[in-house]
Amino acid sequence: MSEELRNLIERLALENALAFNGVAKAEAVLGKLLGMNPDLRSKVRELIPIIQEVTEKVNRLTVAEQAEILKRFGGILRVEKPSKQELPLLPEARDFPQVVLRFAPNPDGPLTLGNARPAVLCDYYARRMNGRLILRFEDTSPSVKPPLKEAYDWIIEDLEWLGIHPDEVYYQSDRLQTYYKYAEKFIEKGFAYVCLCKPEEFRSFEKRGEPCPHRDQDPSLSLSLWEKMLNGGLNPGEAVVRVKTDMKHPNPAIRDWPALRIDVAKHPRVVGFRVWPLYNWSCAIDDYEMRVSHVIRGKEHLTNEVRQSYVFKYLNSPQPVSIHIGRVRLEGSVLSKSRIMRGLAEGAYTGLDDPRLGTLKALRRRGFKPEVIRRVVLEMGLNITESTVKWENLYAYNREAVDWEAERYYFVKNPFTMIVRSIPQQVEARLVRHPSRPELGYRNIVLKPLNGEAQLIVSSKDVENLAPGSRLRLMSLFNIEVEHVDPHSKTVKAFFKSLEVPEKSSGIKLIHWVLPSDAVKTVVLMPDASLVEGLGESHLTRLEPGRIIQLVRFGFCKVEKVSKNVVNLVFSHP
Ligand code: GLU
Repeated sequence: MSEELRNLIERLALENALAFNGVAKAEAVLGKLLGMNPDLRSKVRELIPIIQEVTEKVNRLTVAEQAEILKRFGGILRVEKPSKQELPLLPEARDFPQVVLRFAPNPDGPLTLGNARPAVLCDYYARRMNGRLILRFEDTSPSVKPPLKEAYDWIIEDLEWLGIHPDEVYYQSDRLQTYYKYAEKFIEKGFAYVCLCKPEEFRSFEKRGEPCPHRDQDPSLSLSLWEKMLNGGLNPGEAVVRVKTDMKHPNPAIRDWPALRIDVAKHPRVVGFRVWPLYNWSCAIDDYEMRVSHVIRGKEHLTNEVRQSYVFKYLNSPQPVSIHIGRVRLEGSVLSKSRIMRGLAEGAYTGLDDPRLGTLKALRRRGFKPEVIRRVVLEMGLNITESTVKWENLYAYNREAVDWEAERYYFVKNPFTMIVRSIPQQVEARLVRHPSRPELGYRNIVLKPLNGEAQLIVSSKDVENLAPGSRLRLMSLFNIEVEHVDPHSKTVKAFFKSLEVPEKSSGIKLIHWVLPSDAVKTVVLMPDASLVEGLGESHLTRLEPGRIIQLVRFGFCKVEKVSKNVVNLVFSHP
């Protein structure tokens, strides 16, 4: 037997022992081993005596020794759940040598859960099908969709967090000469023309399905007008380049669509350009030049696929296979970029990571794991219908993702002082850091009564409405009986009842607590941006920002800021 397998058996035996008061059972170890590695089923006969020998050896150790050895093995082995079924492969893109996908955001705001959908899907398929992933910033509309200087970095950061590392990155604002070059070529060949119609004039031709007077003008005339567009001889609104499609196309929106226009608004990245491509032009030219084989984008682009098909036809090139997906909604959260940016400008939100927003930054701040976002997106698949993400779902997935790392701590919301009398002796509470990870150890909190009396801090919710005579158990300490509750002074008087852990069937409520001498002010930012204040164990001040913890009977939180006197947390979910 390999040493690796022997070590694994020992590790599983230690885990099993620590979960059952120091005594491991060989059958349980065997079951776990086979669950992890079904191929070993054929070797059960050889395995049994070894597992028995190892468990016996482990059972001779003290619990402390077992914990120590398990720690050396790297703690409890976390068995990853097998991942869900894979999505179906993308339809084959004949005529393309390689699978190439691109995620093409407009840098005019932060990424939201809605944008995460195409981003994750493009990345997933690029990796799964051994292809390439391109990140392309579509930033060529200085006045209609003004790009934001900071948004480029926001997007790169958010993608990195999601674990998406594009193979290539392009900025369309760096590629204006390319769009010009193709425009000129199209004009020369009569595939496009410069149109001087006023917008309403063109609309009436479009509606009637008739060519406007410029459609059939000599390409040389269009070319000289194109020059004027570029050099300032024409003003914004006076001319556009149009791609010739079909003025009788059943969908008027397809008829000779505009490809480039004059826009003199300032751009955050480049200066000196007055002609800008519209989305359909730059997108089609780039998809062509970058040899994009598959496009995954929102269903609002269905008509654009038809518009862009003319460009590929004129270029005599296959068009990428397009897959259109539905929008994403996140129950009760703001996902619209324009609403987010407006709200920010008006001061309605504290920042891009305001917990009320559906931005990736807000989800990250709340402690959601990137793999949870990926999981939710992949479960939506390539569906064209709108999908609503339920918070409950995100919570459940994230709980699964963080439970292992989240140490447990006590935090008391809206503190009440509890004075307990008649405590017979000093009591030591051993609070485990994690119920299924004994190797993480515990905090020892010693309660030293003075003349039989001690003070504790408990949550108002647990005691406020209690009648005298009510019984409670202070977790890991002892049982008490309430004598008097005074909501004005926020005090409860109680007396010690007994030490033993009550039977589950007794119905006695277990409540958590902190000691006044071991309490630190703790402020939790909630999903609705409100703040919940209370007192937490002083141990919280030793945690580094970024850590995910669970506040017992309150919920999972992410540590945001820690100082000697205050701990700031952000609430993730119950
Ligand atoms: N910039 C476009 C958008 O964000 C990209 C659409 C596409 O992928 O073609 O909607």
